[in-house]
Amino acid sequence: MDRIVIVGAGQAGFQAAASLREAGYAGSLTLIGEEAALPYQRPPLSKAYLAGKTDARGLLLRQDSFFAEHAILHRAGTRVAAIDRASRSLRLSDGERVAYDHLILATGTRNRPLPVPGTGLAGVHQLRSLDDADGLRAAIEGAGRIVVIGAGFIGLEFAAVCAGRGLSVTVIEAADRVMARAVSPETSEAFRAFHEEAGVTFLFGAGVSAIEGEGGKVSAVRTADGRFLPADLVLVGIGVVPNQELAEAAGLPVRDGIEVDAFLATSDPAISSIGDCARFPTRFASGMPGGDRLRIESVQNAVDQGRCLAARLTGRPSAYDAVPWFWSDQGPRKLQIAGLAAPGDASVVRRTGAGFSVFRFRAGALSAVESVDRPADHMAARRLLAAAKTVTPEQAADPDFDLKALAT
Ligand code: FAD
Repeated sequence: MDRIVIVGAGQAGFQAAASLREAGYAGSLTLIGEEAALPYQRPPLSKAYLAGKTDARGLLLRQDSFFAEHAILHRAGTRVAAIDRASRSLRLSDGERVAYDHLILATGTRNRPLPVPGTGLAGVHQLRSLDDADGLRAAIEGAGRIVVIGAGFIGLEFAAVCAGRGLSVTVIEAADRVMARAVSPETSEAFRAFHEEAGVTFLFGAGVSAIEGEGGKVSAVRTADGRFLPADLVLVGIGVVPNQELAEAAGLPVRDGIEVDAFLATSDPAISSIGDCARFPTRFASGMPGGDRLRIESVQNAVDQGRCLAARLTGRPSAYDAVPWFWSDQGPRKLQIAGLAAPGDASVVRRTGAGFSVFRFRAGALSAVESVDRPADHMAARRLLAAAKTVTPEQAADPDFDLKALAT
């Protein structure tokens, strides 16, 4: 294989490139990304970077010199417009053709648009990219009343940063609790309380009917039940959609993501897909209502899939089987999740010291552990899940039970 081309210079695309070189791949390696910056980490955009605790250089996955030293051609500010599978080439948006022997689609996701009037007003923001974060950082300076639409991870992290600066923050959420798709009711309840203590106001079960403005600038958010919330800054954080259009237009199967097999290959053996945009089979989703294939939006998944694919392309194939894990920093609280919980999974709470963990069970087996300020529980949970070991609900609830010993 002489030419590997990666579309998407984010966490997954970068990792695949770095791991290919680490594994000894000596052919040509091109990393094409539409963003202008060198590949960077997104998590700090809603945490340390937003809070002004790190600068743009601190976000970079590697400095400029890394790419030259490893003969990775990083083409920044370059959008891929189409894949021509018959000739194994890409068409860039300026018409240039780039040939490949193997193509890696690591195109990530984009923010889900809010389908109401007013989202184009000045002062209405989303948060996905460094440019978005720069816009938000500047907007926070002059803002007094902030409305966040969506109580997911990004909305809550943003709310915590703003509340920490003494700003008035209201979070509107359509569900009846925070992070409802991802965590147990127990964890939701604890985070609701943490944020309320910090001064955040929540409106649950509330839809948004319009964002209103004066002179082209946002002035308020109107809820579906007629409430009117004055605002000078609105953050819309209602989830993401996969960037799958390139794959779809090229005739590859897509369904809420680019479909890949356990080896991260699409139906075309010359094309693989990794990271947020890839929908793959995993034992960690077995027994879930939607079946055992899904997309995972996390740094862990992007990095581990990049590594797994690089190993296959350099002659060491193995099915992708990494334990999913995730973290979210919300004010002083650290949430860590190991495994994948479905909404109906049972919960058992383990309280020790300042933090707690919620052990989730599906069909009697451990499915996930949500730890709040309990890093030791999180690490033990990752080891348990990797080894497909379980605990009983009684063991999980007993703070004296030695989880670490069971996990090793
Ligand atoms: P991305 O990083 O999104 O990269 C995809 C890249 O492909 C983008 O740069 C995009 O512009 C480019 N692209 C798309 N289409 C084309 C095209 N046609 N041509 C050229 N380029 C293209 N995860 C955690 O685990 N913990 C966290 O605390 C956490 N916090 C987060 C906070 C924020 C604000 C955000 C936005 C995400 C956070 N995440 C977190 C999620 C994590 O950052 C993602 O899961 C990860 O970035 C996925 O990597 P990826 O490479 O698949 O996609």
